[in-house]
Amino acid sequence: MQKELIEFVCPKCGEKLIVNSKFKPCRCNNELTVNYGKFSGITFFNFYDRVNLSEKDGHFYDIFFKFYLKEVINKIQIGKITKNEEKEKAEQNSDYLLNSVPLPKEFWKNKLVLDAGCGGGWATLAALNLNATIISIDNANTCIEFNNWILRNSNGLAIKSSMDFIPIKEETFDIVMAWSSIHHTKNPKKTLKTLVKLLKKDGTIMFSVYGRNNFLREFLISLTRSFLRLFSLKNRIKFSKLFIIKNNKIRKKLNKIFPFQKNMLASTDIFCPVYRYTFEKKEIIDFLKKNNMKEIKTWGVKPCPEVNEKIHFFMAKK
Ligand SMILES: [Zn+2]
Repeated sequence: MQKELIEFVCPKCGEKLIVNSKFKPCRCNNELTVNYGKFSGITFFNFYDRVNLSEKDGHFYDIFFKFYLKEVINKIQIGKITKNEEKEKAEQNSDYLLNSVPLPKEFWKNKLVLDAGCGGGWATLAALNLNATIISIDNANTCIEFNNWILRNSNGLAIKSSMDFIPIKEETFDIVMAWSSIHHTKNPKKTLKTLVKLLKKDGTIMFSVYGRNNFLREFLISLTRSFLRLFSLKNRIKFSKLFIIKNNKIRKKLNKIFPFQKNMLASTDIFCPVYRYTFEKKEIIDFLKKNNMKEIKTWGVKPCPEVNEKIHFFMAKK
C-alpha cells in the first residue's frame, strides 16, 4: 500500500531503497552509517553521520520515550487495549493543536502529509481525523509503534527515521508538519531545508519551535542542562522530575526564579534532549523568505495545554 504513496531513497546518494527484512546498506555506506529494513513489522532507517555516532539522538529518544510512555502514560503495553487511554489523551491534544492552524478543515482532505517527529501521535491523529493520509517519522521505537497503531486502518504508516536524514524522495508531500521537533535536531535550519525539499510545489509546511526566553531564564535552563549532561541519559530523565511542580499557583510564582514545569513531558523536553534550540520569530520568518517560501503566517499558542514554555508557530507555502 505504502509503496504507491511514497518512494524511499537514500538521503545522501539518492539511490532507491527497497525495504525488506535484511539490512541493505546502499552505495554511500562509506559516508554514513546506514542500515534499514523492517523490524517487528516496523519500517526503520538508521542513517548517521560517522562523525557523530557518540551522540546519535535516536538513541536518546528511545530511552526518553520508553521512560515517558512507561512512567507517564499508565504503563501502556504496545498491542494491548490500554492504548486507548493514550489515544484519548492524544485526541484531546490533537484537537488543541490543529485547531490553532489557520486553515479550513477541508484543506486536509486527501492530502499526503508528513508528520516529522511525530512523538506522541497528536498531530498524526488530528490529521487522520481530517481525512488526510499520513506518513509519520520519529526516531524513537515506542513512538513509531504507537503511531503505527494509530494509523493501522489507514493508508499511512509510521517509519523510524531521524529528521536529519529522511529517506523519502523529494517533492512527495502536500503538507509537511513538524510540531516542536525541529528544535531538537542537531541543525534545525538544515532540517527545515530538508523538510522543504520533501514538499511538492505549492505544498504547505507548518511547524513550531521554542521561542527565546529572557536572558536569565535561558541561562538557568542551559545551566541545568549542562549539569544534567554529567549523568547518564536515564538518570537525566529521572532528575528532571525535580523540576516539576503540579500546583499551578505555586509553579507560576516560582517560575519567576526558575523554569519549573507542570509534568514529565514538559520537563524532560526542556532539560534532557541532546539539542534544544530557541528562536526569535523574525529569525525564522527571514529564513523562510530566504528559502523562497511564500504566504508566511505565524501565530503563538502553546503546543498543548500541559506545556508552559513560549512556542512560535509558522506556516508557509513552497
Ligand atoms: Zn546512499
